This record gives sequence, C-alpha cells and structure tokens, in this order.
Amino acid sequence: MRTTNTAYAIFISACVAWGQAAPAPVAPPAVPAPAEKPVLILIDPAHGGSDPGALLTPSVSEKEVTLAVARRLREELTARGILCQLLRDNDSTLSTDQRAAMANASGPALYIALHASSLGSGVRVFIALLPAGGDDHGPFLNWDTAQAAALSRSKAIQALVVAAVQKTRFPTRALSAPLAPLNNLKPPALAIEISPTTGDASQLASTGYQQMICAAVANAIASIAPSLRTGTGSHP
Ligand SMILES: [Zn+2]
Repeated sequence: MRTTNTAYAIFISACVAWGQAAPAPVAPPAVPAPAEKPVLILIDPAHGGSDPGALLTPSVSEKEVTLAVARRLREELTARGILCQLLRDNDSTLSTDQRAAMANASGPALYIALHASSLGSGVRVFIALLPAGGDDHGPFLNWDTAQAAALSRSKAIQALVVAAVQKTRFPTRALSAPLAPLNNLKPPALAIEISPTTGDASQLASTGYQQMICAAVANAIASIAPSLRTGTGSHP
C-alpha cells in the first residue's frame, strides 16, 4: 500500500504541477461475487447428413424430426432461463464417436440425445447400459465405459425426468440400453426417443405434438435444474 500511496501522491503532484485539478480518489472496483455456473444442457439431435436414421413416413426421416424437436426443446428451455446448446444445428454428418468427443469437451450438466421412432408410444428415456469389466486404468478413461462415473447421476436424473413427464399423463418409460454414444460420455447423459401416441408416425412431424413433448420435457428439466447446478457431474 505504501508504494501505491506514494505513486498516487506523485501522480497528484504531477497534475498540480501541470496546473490541473487533482483527480478525486476513485474507489477500487468492487470484486464481483463468484458467479454461479449456469447449467448447460447439450442437446444432440441424433443422425443427420448422410445418416437419415429411420424413415418414419415415406417423406419424413428421423434426422429431420430430431433436429426440429431439438430446436423446439432449445426454445422451451431458453424460455425457462436454462442455457442450452445444440450439438448439431444443421444437416451435418457426425459419427457417434465425434458426438461423444464434442460432448465430453464441452462438459455440460446434462447431455440429451434425441431419437424418433414409429414404434412404441410416447416418450422413452434411456440411460447407458455399460459392458462389464471396463475399469479405468490409471489416468486413462476407458472409452467404452466413460459413463461409469456419471451413471448413478444419469439414473437419478432419468427418474426425475420420467416422473415429471408422467405427471402430465404422457406415456413415458425409463430404460437402459447400450445406445451410442451414451456409454462414451463423461457427463450425465440421457437419450430421449419419441414415438407417436396415435400409432400414426406422421404425428412425429406435427408441430403441435413436438411442441407438447418439448414443453413437458423442458418443464421436467426446469424442475430439476437446481439439482443439476449442484451436481457432481463433469460440469464442476
Ligand atoms: Zn435414432
């Protein structure tokens, strides 16, 4: 402090010497309180580019539905004050390994892959099903079981999302499956597959149906956002 005061005194003297008014002391800028890290949700519209996914109707492919639903879900989450990014926001081709690498690099609080199917009814929420015996060795994460450390958290989030969506009386199921790239992800990860409730796959392309599902899922995520913020996933 002595050095600073001395320097300040010299600065004032110099100003006075130049015939200028001495500047009023300026309070040091307040140190901002550490900001709470925002919860980032990473949405991955499955398929895309040269991989159309399932042909849901003669004119609608899965990759189009997943992207449309991802964009709607982003809108719904953003409207609820939740930070959200799309892993692809165009018709690009990405392998599941590329998707996992991108998701692991961005370290979201939650990763959600979106799929669509003409089979089944309503919403299925998947978590990874890991192969046995994939322990990590030293500092290297085993790619096939990268999800291991986050799996219990993924399961807890799955249960909360399923319970919240079921409250809307929408058909919803919780499942585990080795669905790529869930096993390769470090953050908590879900895959949500949407199916028609009418048995008619054209419902999947309907704006109203997509909107209803996205609002229900966004409400579910918003209701658990505080727990995502304090989670021990890869988003410290
Ligand atoms: Zn799919």
